[in-house]
Amino acid sequence: MKRPVDYEREYARTLVPKRLENASQAPSSSPRRTLRVRVYADADYRSQVLRWEPGIEAQLRRATDVVEGQFGVVFEVDSTRKWDRAGGSQDLETALNQLEALDAGEDVDLVIGLVSALPIFTTSHHQLGVARPFGRHCILRGMDNPEEHKALLSVFTHLPDQERETLYRERKLHKETSVLLHEWAHTLGVFHVQDSHWMMHPSYEPAQAAFAPQTQQHLALSLRHLPQGRRDREAQQAWARELKALLTATVWPDWEGADKESALAWTERALSGQAPLGPEPASPILPADRRRIDEVIALDKQGRVEVAAQQFEPLVQRYPRDEQVQVMACYLAVRAAPKLPATRERCESTLSRFPEQVPILMNLAMLHLQSGSHAEAQALLVKARRQLEAQLNLRGGQLGPARTACRKALAAHPEAVQAHFLLGWMAANTRAGQEARTHLEQVVALEPAHQDAWKLLAEQYRTAGKSSELKDLQQRYRTQFARELR
Ligand SMILES: [Zn+2]
Repeated sequence: MKRPVDYEREYARTLVPKRLENASQAPSSSPRRTLRVRVYADADYRSQVLRWEPGIEAQLRRATDVVEGQFGVVFEVDSTRKWDRAGGSQDLETALNQLEALDAGEDVDLVIGLVSALPIFTTSHHQLGVARPFGRHCILRGMDNPEEHKALLSVFTHLPDQERETLYRERKLHKETSVLLHEWAHTLGVFHVQDSHWMMHPSYEPAQAAFAPQTQQHLALSLRHLPQGRRDREAQQAWARELKALLTATVWPDWEGADKESALAWTERALSGQAPLGPEPASPILPADRRRIDEVIALDKQGRVEVAAQQFEPLVQRYPRDEQVQVMACYLAVRAAPKLPATRERCESTLSRFPEQVPILMNLAMLHLQSGSHAEAQALLVKARRQLEAQLNLRGGQLGPARTACRKALAAHPEAVQAHFLLGWMAANTRAGQEARTHLEQVVALEPAHQDAWKLLAEQYRTAGKSSELKDLQQRYRTQFARELR
């Protein structure tokens, strides 16, 4: 007869992660390549992971075990360093920019930045790590997860302690190694696949054990061109040429999509000599330019949006890696010229560089709403909601509609105005008049220069027959802008 402990052991077996392995276990035909890795650990990480230096060394050895057989790759620690950086660990993209600015890594093959574990449970690879595609840098989070630990202890009450601890440890090690290899592959230009069976799926799963065969080809190809492909222009172009040929010749549905497009776009940039060989450091903003930013903000507040956008343009060119500048560029373009195709292109390209920036997602959503593409707008708002939930540190599993996210944004984000406007717009389009008015009144109060909000609000008052409110609004508009609100 089965005892409770037998049932538990059976169940525990289903939670054991799959063994990471190469598709080919045969000895490698590729030459042995030692990849030198420099590791930085920030203060949070160091406080959470005791003995972090031997820890990352062991982690790299486990990664080597997975890739050595097939690719001949051996990860070797160049050095481990303390990383005293500003800011918390919420935004991985910011951490990645900081790491690139700190150490271009020209003398090594990979620079890893270690930041604190997430206090919430997530399976999204990009909450667990990020990497610069075709670059040298990646950020990895600590993988300790007290919640998962607690859950395992409470589920398996009959299993001996040792078995429970082993299960937790195996799951953690599998995740650590998978995320490291996933992000490393991104630095070689490898992109996501849609089948969750493979390690390059955007979400981590304990059942992932290998790279897809197509991904393996891509990896092997990039390895052949490195490290030279990151050091000199001609080698980079040779890499790009061969990669472009592989990507255009391989038809595989799991590969298609925006990710592949952006890898192909990189090959084009490289071939025309426009892809940087090393990181482009986010240069600090000069004092004179800081003053100019303030002037532009003032112009925008006065409603002189087009002048503001024009004056801002040189800064957009001068600081391509500065998040604040690029986010503002998208915002101003949306305000000044929402119908111009270039506006959408600008915001989309900003988003690809700063994918965690909620204001860009919202601005793009607004462009789509204005052009009537409601499905695209909806998809972007859902993304914005996910980002907000991650950034606001909410628990997974509480997935309310996009509105919930906007409402939370109102409480926590300076982009409140944009969220109010979008909520007002959505409400107006679903004939929720009261809600629309409430939000639009907020926009007008918070950001009087928002012309669209005045117009939409006037329309709402008119539809609802609120003539005294309409009159009052028109009066305020006249005082503000010295012209009529129509
Ligand atoms: Zn990824």
